[in-house]
Amino acid sequence: MQERAKGWHRSGLSVCLVPTMGALHDGHLSLIAKARSVVGPDGVVIVSIYVNPTQFGPHEDFNAYPRTLDSDCERCREAGTDVVFAPVDAEMYPDGRAGSFSCFVVEKKLSQSMEGASRPTHFEGVTTVVAKLFHICLPDSSVFGAKDFQQVAVIRRMVQDLNFPLEIVVAPTHRESDGLAMSSRNQYLGSKERVEAPTLFRILSACRHKVQESLKPVPMPELRQICDSYITQNPLVRLDYLECFHPDSLIPQDCAKPGDRLAIAAYLGSTRLIDNCEL
Ligand code: AMP
Repeated sequence: MQERAKGWHRSGLSVCLVPTMGALHDGHLSLIAKARSVVGPDGVVIVSIYVNPTQFGPHEDFNAYPRTLDSDCERCREAGTDVVFAPVDAEMYPDGRAGSFSCFVVEKKLSQSMEGASRPTHFEGVTTVVAKLFHICLPDSSVFGAKDFQQVAVIRRMVQDLNFPLEIVVAPTHRESDGLAMSSRNQYLGSKERVEAPTLFRILSACRHKVQESLKPVPMPELRQICDSYITQNPLVRLDYLECFHPDSLIPQDCAKPGDRLAIAAYLGSTRLIDNCEL
C-alpha cells in the first residue's frame, strides 16, 4: 500500500483516505463522495476497511461487529473508490494480536470526556490505528464524519501536535428519514428498538430549539429535563450521557448557547448509539 501511495505522489496525484470499519452505509458513501470532490477526477480515493480491535473495550461488540467485505467492496466500486485497503490483523499488529503491540499514540486532553469517559481505551485505539493508516496510505487529506464529533477533534489534535502532513476534512452526519443517524450498529436494533432509536435525534433537536429560542444561555439541568421527558416516553432508551461543550476545546458548558455542541450517547438494549448537533 505504501509503495503504491509513494508512486501516486511521484506522479503528482492527490490522495485522500476515508478510514472506516466497513459495514458501509450511505453515511460512509457520502464521505467517499466528499473525498472525490477533494481530490478531483484524477486524484486517488482510498477507503480503508478495518475493524480495529484496540478501539473496542473488553466487553464491547468487537466479535459481533458486522463484517461484510464483499458487499463493501462493491459499494466502494459503485461510489468511485480507486482502492480499498482492507488489512488483516496480522498486517496491523505483530502476530495479529493487539496485545503484542508496544507503541501507542495517546491524546491526553480532548479524549478524556464523553466517549473517552464511557470507553476508557477507545481513543488510544483510534489515534493509534489512524496514525498507522496515515503512515501506510500517505494521504494528502482524510475525510471523517461529524457524527463522531469528538473523534474528529482528537484526530485533528493528533495531526496538529505530531505534524502529520495532511488536511482533515469533515463531512456532515447522514440520517435516515426519521432522523436516526446512520450507523453500522443500527443493524443490531430489534424492531421495537428501531422505533425508539430516533429519540436521540429528537432530544438533540428539542434542545437545539430550546437554546435557539432562549434569549439567554440555557442551564444544562433544563436540557436534561427535556431529555428526561423524551426518555420517559421511550422506555427502551437508556441514557449514557448528554453533554454540552465548546466545539473546538470540547470544554463542558454548564449553560448552553447557540454555537455550542450537544452530544448524546444512549443504549437501546445492548446497542450503544451516539449523535450530536450544533446548538
Ligand atoms: P465507522 O465505520 O463507524 O468507524 O465510521 C467511519 C467513518 O464514517 C467515520 O469518520 C464516521 O464518523 C463516519 N460516519 C459514520 N456514520 C456516519 C454518518 N451517519 N454520517 C456521516 N459520516 C458517518
